[in-house]
Amino acid sequence: MRLDDIGEFGLIERIRRSFAAPSQRAPIGIGDDAAALCVSPGHTLLATTDMLVEGVHFDLATTDLYSLGWKSAAVNLSDIAAMGGTPRFCMTALAIPRRITVERIAAFYRGLHAIARKHGVVLVGGDTCSSKRDLVISIAMLGEARRKKIVTRSGARPGDLVYVTGTLGDSGAGLELVRSSKSGNLRQKTDVRKLIERHLRPVPRVAWGRMLAESGSVSAMIDVSDGLSSDLGHLCEESGVGAEITGDRIPLSRSLRRATGLRQNILDYALSGGEDYELLFTVPPRREKTIPGFGIDATNIGVVTKGRSLRFIDDMGSVRLLQASGYDHFKVSRRGRAR
Ligand code: ADP
Ligand code: MG
Repeated sequence: MRLDDIGEFGLIERIRRSFAAPSQRAPIGIGDDAAALCVSPGHTLLATTDMLVEGVHFDLATTDLYSLGWKSAAVNLSDIAAMGGTPRFCMTALAIPRRITVERIAAFYRGLHAIARKHGVVLVGGDTCSSKRDLVISIAMLGEARRKKIVTRSGARPGDLVYVTGTLGDSGAGLELVRSSKSGNLRQKTDVRKLIERHLRPVPRVAWGRMLAESGSVSAMIDVSDGLSSDLGHLCEESGVGAEITGDRIPLSRSLRRATGLRQNILDYALSGGEDYELLFTVPPRREKTIPGFGIDATNIGVVTKGRSLRFIDDMGSVRLLQASGYDHFKVSRRGRAR
């Protein structure tokens, strides 16, 4: 069905019907001029927004709309996770070109709904307009946290240990593979499928972020969206410190280690691939022993230093400066990359 068969308001009505009715937390949701939302007593509102632009962040030849809906919410959930918050509400603003059918928009919302439901997040509003060319998606996510428990990027101190959750680099490798294996039988391989899955449908570490924040054992935190080298750089910059990372401690998945046909050294996907949506955090040494008790998958990859530089120790023990090589929208041409 074409969008002009049902029009802007027909589409909004469909979106509204497919989501939950007003709730205690959101007494006024889709349908009025603004949503009215409630935050739990003693909590602070966390707000974040991320935009996904066709041709820049995604390519409709390699992603389906369900995955896109999932991912649009996931990247925002990851930001709430990195503050140690609980996500509650989201808003979706879409600019939609005529070639996109109503069914594909419905698939987008099914994907978004699937991940939102897992986290108890309610869609409370948005905006819908037409686009001359590209599909543009802007999602806002609102969450809450107790003021004193919020973890920022700026609390790392020299001597703190640097940790990262899960494994890094899968998404970057998955992006390369999804492009190079458009039809081929490469995609049948389990490892390749897993890497592509991590690129198309990332899993934000919401429960882990909240647990780490509540524990008080974490001095600073950020999610890995641009690549370890860039995001570690952001955290250190905000904290006024540097860091030394040990290359062979960086956690890499079995799928990434075994994948064939990748163009770069696998460590490069971890350092600069981006879109892993893992959590990178620092822990004061006196709290180090508490980390295993949280039962989360986290690896110590280095230490915070007083000197402001980012240093990387390779497997031969030699030290080099780590350049921020993650994704930068305005330097993208240098790397020749549109995701
Ligand atoms: P206004 O003209 O006052 O901005 P709209 O007609 O744009 O109102 O939106 C009507 C209602 O539908 C609002 O509650 C708005 O938040 C919601 N809405 C519009 N587009 C979307 C969308 N893509 N997803 C979710 N809610 C939407
Ligand atoms: Mg509007």
